[in-house]
Amino acid sequence: MITFSKQDFLKNIYKQKEKGNDSTSASYLADVLNVSNAAISDMSKKLSIDGLIHYRPYKGLVLTSQGEKEALKVLRRHRLWEMFLVKTLGMDWSEVHEEAENLEHLSSDQLMDKIDAFLDFPDFDPHGSPIPDRDGNMPDSPVLILLNKAKTGEEYKIARVMDSDNKIIKYLGKAGLVIGARIKIIDKFDFDNSINVLINGKEMILSEKVSKTIYLELLN
Ligand SMILES: [Zn+2]
Repeated sequence: MITFSKQDFLKNIYKQKEKGNDSTSASYLADVLNVSNAAISDMSKKLSIDGLIHYRPYKGLVLTSQGEKEALKVLRRHRLWEMFLVKTLGMDWSEVHEEAENLEHLSSDQLMDKIDAFLDFPDFDPHGSPIPDRDGNMPDSPVLILLNKAKTGEEYKIARVMDSDNKIIKYLGKAGLVIGARIKIIDKFDFDNSINVLINGKEMILSEKVSKTIYLELLN
């Protein structure tokens, strides 16, 4: 099994790809992983020798197909653990990310296959993120749009939220901004990029920081 730090490195490049970024900058990775640029450069060289990333100095980092396979394994473990903790232990969706960050490194493929079957093979985790199957295939997902790019007057369904800030997740839960909730964009304010929305029949102003963590599916 590859080391924790390598797993986190590959996972974060994949997550940038999920967000539509073809490559990930070394400085971004240094920031999320809380290490120096020199450490990122060292790790990049090692992972390139292992055939897990394409390393081109001063260019963005891209996973090889082998690197992508490894990243998907980490995400599978992370997302299945989050689902397990919510469904089985009844934990709040704001509590499970931190736990999954540790558990994702410690669990065997066999254990995850058993948890997957126990949960009846879920396609999405409690935050709406897709869960890769044991062969690394992602489930079919609808096209999603970030809330701050949604159109005024349109009606949407909340499909996914970014799970890394547990304070925001907690707030979303309290405000009824949960997976599956219907949301209508009433107005957008250019001066501070806040958005006025209708959620469960209630008007609410969402800050830019909050709206950037929510992904929507357009309802027809
Ligand atoms: Zn998570």
